[in-house]
Amino acid sequence: MLDINTIRKDFPILDQKVNGQKLIYFDNAATSQTPNQVVDSIVDYYKRTNSNIHRGNHKLSIQATTAYEDVRKKLHKYFNSRLPQEIIFTSGTTQSINIITLGYTDLLTSKDEVIVSEMEHHSNIVPVQMLCERTGAKLNVIPMDNQGNLILKEFDKFISEKTKLVFVSHVSNALGTVNPISYIINKSHEVGAKVLIDGAQGASHFEIDFQKLDIDYYTVSAHKMCGPTGTGILYGKEELLNKLSPWHGGGEMIDEVSFEKTTYGELPHKFEPGTPNIAGVIAFGAAIEYMDNIGLDNIQAHEDELLKYCTQELKEIEGLKIYGEAKNKIAVISFNVEGIHHYDLGSLLDQFGVAVRIGHHCAQPVMNYFKIPGTVRISFSFYNTKEEIDLMIKALKRAITMLQ
Ligand SMILES: *Cc1c(COP(=O)(O)O)cnc(C)c1O
Repeated sequence: MLDINTIRKDFPILDQKVNGQKLIYFDNAATSQTPNQVVDSIVDYYKRTNSNIHRGNHKLSIQATTAYEDVRKKLHKYFNSRLPQEIIFTSGTTQSINIITLGYTDLLTSKDEVIVSEMEHHSNIVPVQMLCERTGAKLNVIPMDNQGNLILKEFDKFISEKTKLVFVSHVSNALGTVNPISYIINKSHEVGAKVLIDGAQGASHFEIDFQKLDIDYYTVSAHKMCGPTGTGILYGKEELLNKLSPWHGGGEMIDEVSFEKTTYGELPHKFEPGTPNIAGVIAFGAAIEYMDNIGLDNIQAHEDELLKYCTQELKEIEGLKIYGEAKNKIAVISFNVEGIHHYDLGSLLDQFGVAVRIGHHCAQPVMNYFKIPGTVRISFSFYNTKEEIDLMIKALKRAITMLQ
């Protein structure tokens, strides 16, 4: 069991009033809150260590480089990659996906096919569409059903020797569905296709073992797992990353530069041009440590309890429809109330101190599937409580009465 009261002391942001009301933060799928330990690591870095990495041979530069590279080693252990250099630091999931789609530009032709799912975040759709436009590769879309599950039979039909790449999210940010990534990876590997898992909503909820799952590419955003914004990783198998062209050129990513020919550096430097977000990476390390101390099993158990409790409470409300009822889902609940626009509901909830997300959640194809412009989305983290759910339900009922 988690000692939520103690945990919440690490998150002073949660202990405040907004619009004169006690803040209830239920927008964790958009960004999670940042504990003191992570904030302190950023402040400490700038107060004591701030220096550029990999270049200098003075004391501070060496300390900063060590701290930065230690996080790479930590993530390599945490996610069980084969090698530390398979962990590339990026600004987050969006950039990580773009590194892959740009890297494949000269590896695909119009004879090739790429698969994506209907359930993806725009950041796992738009770069893929751009890749297909550049190369002429055909894009196939795995449809979903009205529970919010991918229709695997349709995926099976698409997968063939022509398939080169599959892009699918570990967990849908709009519906909470946990996708059967093992099935998708195994099927894809049978035909030699590589799979990118958008893990923006995965890594914060599950223990993930890159080698055990035989994952080709995985992306993480630190800000969705108690870390700072503007930091994340791209994981890729060494032999795959070695084949990809670098996405950007610049300092730090080269082996030798001359006007006749420039050669690129080894992994991970090939994909980390310029000065990276050093403080962010170090703070990401602190976030991983923080979550690891609490334990993902504990986090999962608590969030699951919140999900069940809240779903039950919401279902009591007349005219309320939940979108996404997959058996295997995380603590994300998208809903609408009959006759009320999600925007109005979200605005009133904000007036009552409840922070939720409204709109299409960067997943317009999901909204199109349900023929709605958007939803209200509640998403929990391990620091949320049943008492907060009770207060939210009260606020929601009041908002519905005012709007009907
Ligand atoms: C948040 C999110 C993204 C985008 O992540 P950024 O950190 O904004 O780059 C992509 N996919 C999913 C499923 C997400 O939840």
